[in-house]
Amino acid sequence: MFDNLNLDRETFSVGQVIFHIGEPGDCAYLIEQGCVEVCVGTGEGERRVSTLQAGELIGEISLIDRQPRTATVRAMQETTLVPIRRALLEELLDKTDPVIRHLLRVVLERFRTTQTSLTPDLVDRLSIQFEYQQPQGKLYESAAHSLTLSQDIAYALISNQFEMHYQPICKLADKKVVGFEALIRWQHPQFGMLSPMEFLGLAEQTGQIRGIGLWTLEHACRDWGQLQKMVESEDAFVSVNLSANQLTSPLIVEDMKAILHRHQMDITSLKLELTETVIIGRPEIASQILGQLVQLGMRLALDDFGTGYSGMEYLQRYPIGTLKIDKAFITPLLESEQSQQIVRSTIDLAHSLNLDVVAEGIETEATRDALIELGCEYGQGWLFGQPTKLTNNS
Ligand code: C2E
Ligand code: CA
Ligand code: CA
Repeated sequence: MFDNLNLDRETFSVGQVIFHIGEPGDCAYLIEQGCVEVCVGTGEGERRVSTLQAGELIGEISLIDRQPRTATVRAMQETTLVPIRRALLEELLDKTDPVIRHLLRVVLERFRTTQTSLTPDLVDRLSIQFEYQQPQGKLYESAAHSLTLSQDIAYALISNQFEMHYQPICKLADKKVVGFEALIRWQHPQFGMLSPMEFLGLAEQTGQIRGIGLWTLEHACRDWGQLQKMVESEDAFVSVNLSANQLTSPLIVEDMKAILHRHQMDITSLKLELTETVIIGRPEIASQILGQLVQLGMRLALDDFGTGYSGMEYLQRYPIGTLKIDKAFITPLLESEQSQQIVRSTIDLAHSLNLDVVAEGIETEATRDALIELGCEYGQGWLFGQPTKLTNNS
């Protein structure tokens, strides 16, 4: 059993009603543990039409069409539910293809028309048609997992479950720390420590990435006072990764200014790491926002260089000062002639454009030596330090 106190869950005892027929419904529920019965009709005429168990969804119809509940749902055992709130669902629906939205509406309308004409007697005769289709297969499981996780993200943001870890970026020649990259982690009460790859994609889809992005900036700026003391460079910085959804509104510039002001941090000490995919979505607005930020003194790094489409174009179009070579090219550097060629020409290109180069994923002294040989000045990787949490910070 996991610790319910740290999650947005609701628990019901045997016989307890989760919702009544006719009530307004602003919440659907994913059954995490236990079992419920779904009943239509009222009073003497109430009839059970199905039972649902862990992994299944209840109350989703009212949530979507804003009509009153069409059934009464009651716990048959001690039951734990993950509430899926309307705001989250609407955000997901907004991002859905309009055709799918329309189809969903038609299906719901049909469902309601059929259901309201059902008397308990009819239910009896038609009960076979009314039997709940058991959701099956990986697709359903992954959809249920995503719903749970996105609900948990909303709660994690307000209950301090995210952590910021910092990884040093060093000068290759003398290993002196020149800055840090902020990397988010999620201490999930049920699933343990989650890496950003396990939840950021979903947060992008639901739009929750905007909240996470602000959280990230707030914490990196808050921690800057402490980080700064560990840097041995005039040009010290902390870099923060930016997601595509964060560059869709110019309001981000004001948000960033407010955060920097709150923590009395100089804008020149903050570096933003962007990937090509961040820019690709809406290039005009991205370039407008980035232009404003650079004018204010912020620095930009192009992340995962070499893994995208055509890095060259972005280097010309955006005011980028640093190029980060993806670890996919650094890991095989010693064995692969091809990787060496790519890394060498990337470094030469960057230098010809007056850009700094940071090589990612350096794990051994031999790789560091090879990169120095190729003319790379900066690096990041386990050789210098893993991402770690600052002590005495929440
Ligand atoms: P990234 O920006 O390319 O970050 C570098 C990743 O490489 C990090 O993974 C880091 O832990 C890992 N790494 C560093 N040195 C080594 C090494 O020597 N060997 C190996 N094998 N790995 C190394 P992490 O922390 O799992 O982050 C994954 C990605 O998630 C990041 O890739 C970044 O794109 C994204 N991310 C992390 N934190 C944030 C955040 O706060 N906001 C946003 N938008 N994205 C984030
Ligand atoms: Ca990065
Ligand atoms: Ca990277």
